[in-house]
Amino acid sequence: MADRYKPMRPPAPLPGADLPVVVIAGRPNVGKSTLFNRLVGRRQALVADTPGVTRDRKEGVALVRGRHVRLIDTAGLEEAAPDSLYGRMRASSESAVHEADLVLFCIDARAGITPADEHFAQWIRRQNRPVLLLANKAEGRQGTASALEAYSLGLGEPVALSAEHGEGLTDLMWEIAERLPQPVSGGQDDEDEQDNPDAEADERPAGPLRVAIVGRPNAGKSTLLNTLLGEERMITGPEPGLTRDSIAVTLHDGDDTFEIVDTAGLRKKARIDETLEKMSVSASIEALKMAEVAVLVLDATLGVQEQDLQIARLIEREGRACVLALNKWDAVEDRAATRKAILDRLSISLAQMRGVPVVTFSALTGVAVHKLLPAVRDAWTVWNARVPTGELNRWFEDMLERHQPPLVDGKRLKLRYITQVKARPPTFVVFGTRAEQMPDDYKRYLVNGLREAFDLPGVPIRLQTRGTKNPYADR
Ligand code: GDP
Ligand code: GDP
Repeated sequence: MADRYKPMRPPAPLPGADLPVVVIAGRPNVGKSTLFNRLVGRRQALVADTPGVTRDRKEGVALVRGRHVRLIDTAGLEEAAPDSLYGRMRASSESAVHEADLVLFCIDARAGITPADEHFAQWIRRQNRPVLLLANKAEGRQGTASALEAYSLGLGEPVALSAEHGEGLTDLMWEIAERLPQPVSGGQDDEDEQDNPDAEADERPAGPLRVAIVGRPNAGKSTLLNTLLGEERMITGPEPGLTRDSIAVTLHDGDDTFEIVDTAGLRKKARIDETLEKMSVSASIEALKMAEVAVLVLDATLGVQEQDLQIARLIEREGRACVLALNKWDAVEDRAATRKAILDRLSISLAQMRGVPVVTFSALTGVAVHKLLPAVRDAWTVWNARVPTGELNRWFEDMLERHQPPLVDGKRLKLRYITQVKARPPTFVVFGTRAEQMPDDYKRYLVNGLREAFDLPGVPIRLQTRGTKNPYADR
């Protein structure tokens, strides 16, 4: 009898109960279970049956950038009287949240912030657990924009993702890994973590840096991979986000570890040319989704072809950092002219490729291939860059003075403020009255200015506009 009103006990601990605990919380229907299944995959989906509740707490073990975590999917946190079903569900969430090393607080970016989200955000803040805010259902191009609404919850920068479509998972893994407690010494996986997890968090990758090698068929991708690997071939995966027929190979360069996503398209060879073309594009997309930095391999003897541009556009669309690899350099005669012709063609066709880091080498002979990984590392650093808001707004005022914002429908746009809302890739939001009506050429002016002023070559820069008042002004 008395049992009935007791808060639910957590289910029996799984093997590995000493793992960091990550709890997925949020109101019903935001996609918690979908996310849980994504992260845990088929590895384990243990359901703890507690009589009397239809939705039970699920636990599983997920692998996050090389570390195992105990993942808990809570029942929906919902505002309700304590003796109702929701009240009891909340009691269960409460116990999960209390043991959490990290709470993933989910909202539905398409639905926007509801009063229930606000209520529980407030409650979560009071629990004093580290929280990572997730804006789920943010698939497609509008994703990041709608995710920005979540700022108003006061739980920090939202990570935009789509659990259902598998978008944004690389970023998510990253953000989770950065917030996990340090492994106990003698514990698992991480070899060389630094003492303070908060110190210069963006300066060093929390795990291996993920790289995709992309390019047209015959550009030399598999030759490059083999040369890079040499003897050292270690196969890892499958991890969440990695599809069944892609694997990752790990290699080291100095203190840095790189994980190269090796897709089926990179390894297999189709017989028919048409299939090969199609395969290389779909394999590129697949690899890019999982990568942080893309190495775009060109056959320098052939110059820039339409398909190279197509793949470069994909890199931009996926928001990845890029290193341009001019391969077959051994077979190029006039090197200076070749380099110039390729870079001119690229920067005319794609503004985002302006200033992209370039390495030239021969994958076949191995000459100069060693320059690639340091360039990847540098591109990664740029991709992670954060520009301080003060500096950004001094620059912004200067830009506005040099070129007044244009008239739209006879009225001048009033742009007031700019802030960087996220890195990876650098994403900025301009606030002002009717800012959302900013014409594309003025956006380009600002994006090119950002790239130059803050030294952000070769990474996609996202610029968004918001017509509302500056939400930071009164914080
Ligand atoms: P929970 O109640 O928070 O565990 O939510 P579920 O995981 O059961 O998901 C609720 C609904 O949202 C289901 O219909 C899912 O298919 C859908 N859903 C989950 N993630 C996404 C997403 O990323 N995008 C979209 N469009 N729908 C999603
Ligand atoms: P992939 O389709 O992009 O994986 O290309 P492969 O690695 O299979 O290379 C295609 C062809 O280009 C092969 O015949 C390679 O031997 C050749 N190749 C690759 N790298 C170089 C290079 O650096 N120099 C020269 N001359 N040939 C290369």
